[in-house]
Amino acid sequence: MPQAVGSSIPSKTVSVGGLPPTVTVLLRAFEQSREAILITDAENLIVAVNPAFTEMTGYDVAETLGKDPKILSSGHAEPDFFVQMWQSLAQDSFWQGEIWDKRKDGSTYPKWLSISVIRDETGAVQNYVANFNDISSSKEAADRLAHLAYHDPLTQLPNRLSFEAQLTQSLRICEREGRQLALMVIDLDNFKNINDTLGHHIGDEVLKKVALRLRDCIRASDLVARLGGDEFVVVLPEIDGPMVAARVANKIQQSLADSYMVAGYALYATPSIGISLFPSDGQDTATLLRNADSAMYHAKSAGRNNHQFYASRMNEAAGDRLRLESALRVAVAAISPTDSEFLLHFQPQIEASTGRIIGLEALLRWNSPVFGSVSPLRFIGIAEETGLIQPLGDWVIWETCRQIRELKSHGFDDIRVAINISAQQLRHENLLLLVRGALACYDLQPGDIELEVTESTAMQNTEVTLGILDQLADMGILLAIDDFGTGYSSLAYLKHLPIKHLKIDRSFVTDIETDANDAAICAATIALGHNLGLKLVAEGVETEQQREFLCRLGCDVLQGYLYSKPLPFDE
Ligand code: C2E
Ligand code: CA
Ligand code: CA
Repeated sequence: MPQAVGSSIPSKTVSVGGLPPTVTVLLRAFEQSREAILITDAENLIVAVNPAFTEMTGYDVAETLGKDPKILSSGHAEPDFFVQMWQSLAQDSFWQGEIWDKRKDGSTYPKWLSISVIRDETGAVQNYVANFNDISSSKEAADRLAHLAYHDPLTQLPNRLSFEAQLTQSLRICEREGRQLALMVIDLDNFKNINDTLGHHIGDEVLKKVALRLRDCIRASDLVARLGGDEFVVVLPEIDGPMVAARVANKIQQSLADSYMVAGYALYATPSIGISLFPSDGQDTATLLRNADSAMYHAKSAGRNNHQFYASRMNEAAGDRLRLESALRVAVAAISPTDSEFLLHFQPQIEASTGRIIGLEALLRWNSPVFGSVSPLRFIGIAEETGLIQPLGDWVIWETCRQIRELKSHGFDDIRVAINISAQQLRHENLLLLVRGALACYDLQPGDIELEVTESTAMQNTEVTLGILDQLADMGILLAIDDFGTGYSSLAYLKHLPIKHLKIDRSFVTDIETDANDAAICAATIALGHNLGLKLVAEGVETEQQREFLCRLGCDVLQGYLYSKPLPFDE
């Protein structure tokens, strides 16, 4: 009779002295079971545990007797879990399931647990008997199997099965939320050559490196998978438009085009990429895949190492856009103190009451050797998306200050020049440093410049924006809200901005005489602005009638073709 166990067996089952043979057998079974066994009384306090229990949990008999089995709990289970367990014990006198417990040393493990209720003749609970197994090793094996089922063993990327499952799910989300999605099929040019001439083991190394580079080209929320052979797919869920896909495709092309060093060889495996878009090119996995595939063959026949959209008009639009983008990159990188493809034009601002020029607005121009003169309406947006607006905007500030100094040297002493500022520029404290530096460098006063931010810019990221605008205003720099009426700023918010000027958007001025709504908006804006102590500037004044109308409403400053188009500095 094993002492450790005997001492913890409920006294009713142990008759001291000569035990009946069946009881001896039962005790042996209890003691030698490979399954951990724990018995509690009607109050659910532990009355017996077997050696397998001690081995599994680290608790010996003395540490457990009289305790609540809660001591084993890992605390990971949902509160509901135990409610349900106790319900089925009350109802069926039995429960089994998987549960995470904690060993004495604090480590947690999954166990498979069965609990039976022992009742007396009246049905009252006498004991609970729990048996359990540590299932961590079979769980690990199951996890490994699941990983194998869903991953490509060579590259560790998701395989076709998991790609299809994830794409289906992403499509559902995009459909629900009205978003677009891009699917890219990527096939390596020349890969067969590498395999055939140098052998599979070299080819495999290249594939592994390709997988790593692909992962680096995408965000964590995107998906890259290997479909087999040298074919990969990338899914970009929730994109804003085809341009995003074109840009990622470009990045992939550049990254994969670099040589691969394997076993002393410098190998090349450029990609041919086909792109299909949800919802325009297909609504389901199979259609999107088929269309991306056919776009990929198109890319192959178009000379490899390129990407093609399934819908050909996208190729042209994206191609134009990308060429413009890369030309812009080159132009911005080439800006030097003496030379640049960029220049500033200036448009006068006229005081309505006197007809005097009181200021100028600096407007950026780009003369591209490839595209000719490009409107800021086309390239400012690209510069903002690509981050090029930072260096470009810096240049505008420096160049404006340089030209103000020039104006002063010609005797124009009290003309303030307005500079347009993009949202990204307002996100950095270095805007303050830059402005301060440029003013100091050309020996100017803060009052010599004015900064224009659009209404929507002022509304973005309000805390940071407000902080920076406040600091600029503290420096003595005038601030204007541009394109007013096109955003959604609240009056309450406007009151907190340290601004001096409101510029009524051109769209309201254009139809001021013919459209009663526009006239009403102008009138209201002017009244509201004056109430807040602001000066009102009307943009895009083209006719004498518009001027008269605006003057009658009390508008303070007028700007537009009626007075002058934006002109180069000399004019
Ligand atoms: P904006 O700040 O609203 O500039 C006024 C735009 O209206 C200018 O177009 C100007 O040429 C045009 N305009 C002026 N008067 C009239 C008129 O009477 N009739 C008509 N139809 N148009 C008139 P532009 O120069 O093409 O600039 C377009 C936009 O590009 C600007 O709108 C501004 O948002 C942006 N932009 C220009 N330069 C810069 C810059 O240096 N930095 C930043 N961030 N944006 C700039
Ligand atoms: Ca402006
Ligand atoms: Ca404007």
